[in-house]
Amino acid sequence: MNISVKILIFMVVGAIVGTIFQQFGGYQCIDELSKEACKAFQSENWIYTYIIDGLFNVGGAWFINALKMLMVPLVLVSLVVGVCSLTDPSKLGRLSLKTVGLYLLTTAIALILALLMASIFQPGNGMPVGDANFVPKEKPPLTDVLINMIPTNPFSAMAQANMLQIIVFAIILGLAISFSGDKGKTIKDWFESANHVVMGIVNLVMKFAPYGVFFLIAKTFATFPFADLVGGLGKYFILVIVVLILHALLTYGSLIALLARLNPVNFFKGMWPAMLTAFGTSSSNATLPVTMRCVEKNLGVHKNTYSFTLPLGATVNMDGTAIMQGIATLFIAQAYNADLTMAQMLTIILTATLASIGAAGVPSVGLILLAGVLTQVNLPVEAIGMILGIDRLLDMTRTAVNITGDAAVTTIVAKSEGEIELDTYNDPVIHSNFEEEET
Ligand code: ASP
Repeated sequence: MNISVKILIFMVVGAIVGTIFQQFGGYQCIDELSKEACKAFQSENWIYTYIIDGLFNVGGAWFINALKMLMVPLVLVSLVVGVCSLTDPSKLGRLSLKTVGLYLLTTAIALILALLMASIFQPGNGMPVGDANFVPKEKPPLTDVLINMIPTNPFSAMAQANMLQIIVFAIILGLAISFSGDKGKTIKDWFESANHVVMGIVNLVMKFAPYGVFFLIAKTFATFPFADLVGGLGKYFILVIVVLILHALLTYGSLIALLARLNPVNFFKGMWPAMLTAFGTSSSNATLPVTMRCVEKNLGVHKNTYSFTLPLGATVNMDGTAIMQGIATLFIAQAYNADLTMAQMLTIILTATLASIGAAGVPSVGLILLAGVLTQVNLPVEAIGMILGIDRLLDMTRTAVNITGDAAVTTIVAKSEGEIELDTYNDPVIHSNFEEEET
């Protein structure tokens, strides 16, 4: 069976199983009992202990850990190999400009769409403000992010999985290897061989993707507070989901059709396994191995483009997160009866676009970024507490949009550079044959 269909089936079954288990040992205690009593309830409840917190939790965490384990070696070796195989190193500069330009453009479009829809549908009107409290973690200032892009110690960059630093180091290493010509050939061959081996591990981990996604979704649905949705947050929740879907279909679809002159349907078909994995893991970084795989195997993009654009995108490009920030900011402003001026709206677009640079694509990071945006427009940061409870499912959906945005820009840039196999992109047979062997 083709892998996309398999992941989808396991995901739906996971959602059903999780919802059933919620009735026995999941969420209801959070709502009705205090935290202490809830813990006591859960520790006595064997379904919670052995199934929700046991089986589902461990199975899902194994899958996420396996993906994360691949992240550093995969980004390092594929980027080094990608840069080494660039015939013209000046291409790298052009590639960076196009990529970063398109990343910023798509994020700005996402925010404008979000602000427009939130102004029309007013999800926060009449919301009781309540005693929301949320204390955000500190986010480093942009200057620090820029300074720290160059690692002082590449090994510690890898040990800490600092994506921007690894990207910079890998590009420098790749350039140095290709400038060394014949003398550097041994190292070049070593990286090429390592790349095949790492891809072998990706293939292996991908075989477990349906089960991993099943466990992750089952755990989420067993603990997700659907009851909160009825209490006024439903409108916010639905609006975020609708705008995320609109942005993915309309913005990416039309950019791919207009700028790359490619059929957008093939794009979405090819990206489906990565979107489902992003939905399951809530982490663009963890999904990276699968995103790379889809872009190469299903869309036919060459390694020397995607090995640079995708890891960069997982860190600096988060359109889905930007959409949540735009809608959440207006939602909170409306709940607090604060009218935002045009200048404040522009501030939201600017801060939210820049905020995502340097924030790693990991679960819930969007909420930390949101704190920064709220501060800029003088709204109370504690108000994030209002939307915290239902953020999990939104996080999953926006992560799927985040990685789709990275892949859309990658496809457009690759097409403009002639770095895409059109036969692969246009051939639907390959799309359903995801597990095809590495050649
Ligand atoms: N989880 C998202 C990602 O990894 C970021 C966020 O919006 O929290 O892309």
